[in-house]
Amino acid sequence: MKKIFSGIQPSGTLTIGNYLGAMKHFVDLQHDYECMFCIVDQHAITVPQDPDELRDHKRKLAALYMAVGLDVNKSTIFIQSEVPAHAQLAWMMQCVSYIGELERMTQFKDKSEGKNGVSAGLLTYPPLMAADILLYGTDIVPVGDDQRQHLELTRTLADRFNRQYADIFTLPETKILGRRIMSLQNPEKKMSKSDANTKGFISMLDDEKTITKKIKSAVTDSDQDVRFDVENKPAISNLLTIYSLLSTQEVSSIEKEYEGKGYGAFKSDLAELTVSVLTPIQKRFYELYESDEVDNVLDAGSDTANKQARTLLQKAEEAMGLHRT
Ligand code: ATP
Ligand code: MG
Repeated sequence: MKKIFSGIQPSGTLTIGNYLGAMKHFVDLQHDYECMFCIVDQHAITVPQDPDELRDHKRKLAALYMAVGLDVNKSTIFIQSEVPAHAQLAWMMQCVSYIGELERMTQFKDKSEGKNGVSAGLLTYPPLMAADILLYGTDIVPVGDDQRQHLELTRTLADRFNRQYADIFTLPETKILGRRIMSLQNPEKKMSKSDANTKGFISMLDDEKTITKKIKSAVTDSDQDVRFDVENKPAISNLLTIYSLLSTQEVSSIEKEYEGKGYGAFKSDLAELTVSVLTPIQKRFYELYESDEVDNVLDAGSDTANKQARTLLQKAEEAMGLHRT
């Protein structure tokens, strides 16, 4: 069975962008692949995090992985910092990375723009991500469209290591899971759980009132036509994408349904649809969040991951000469 690895940062509560662009698809993938789903807390601390909030976001993320339907007997769910091999291999991958190629990453540029005191960790985020993936001999990495560039770099670093030292890493394939969901307040910017403007995203745990308010105040384009046209009508096109993915209806049939009805009717139905998809997930989430099950799953996940990661870590150390013979 081929191996899948994918990570999500506990840098906030998951958004519908994370759900539609990543998590939703994991549930189907688990039937055909051996899956590792990681809560990447060491990636989250590349920007400042409140320690208590970080702990809570990890627990929430674990409960959400389970609430959307991941079967813990099939998939391994674990926390990155509980498997030290990630940080150990990350250092080795940093030593085969060039500063220039890291500075070219758009995520680094976006997240460091206009900030004072940008952490070195934000720059070396991609070699840590490469380590996460390569440690498990991963064949396929399913991610949202925004992670394409990091995956290309992972392949470059793996290939460079294989040529320079020893041919030990599998070059992973990227599987882009869906369209990029954009911010409700700025359709030029991707929806992000760490956005300081909470009106820009719908969180998977937002209640009905908040969801309705955020969708009603989402920016729209100048006319009243519910029509998909990314170039000229990026805001309504984004809302149409969300509607289409949540309802599994074609965009063209949604356009037809709202012909002549204007943005108001469309937005109020989109709010209702969003609530109807998120409510059952939230119900299951709150049961899990209060229970010991989350801790048991994370303990077992960390055991499995630690056992699996050891093999490639040792091979990498031997290849680079970090092992005593
Ligand atoms: P942060 O703002 O802290 O970077 P994020 O919302 O970008 O948070 P990540 O943890 O970086 O979330 O990414 C988790 C997964 O969700 C990845 O597979 C990523 O590609 C996907 N993803 C993130 N944002 C979107 C989006 N707007 N549309 C589709 N997929 C997304
Ligand atoms: Mg991100």
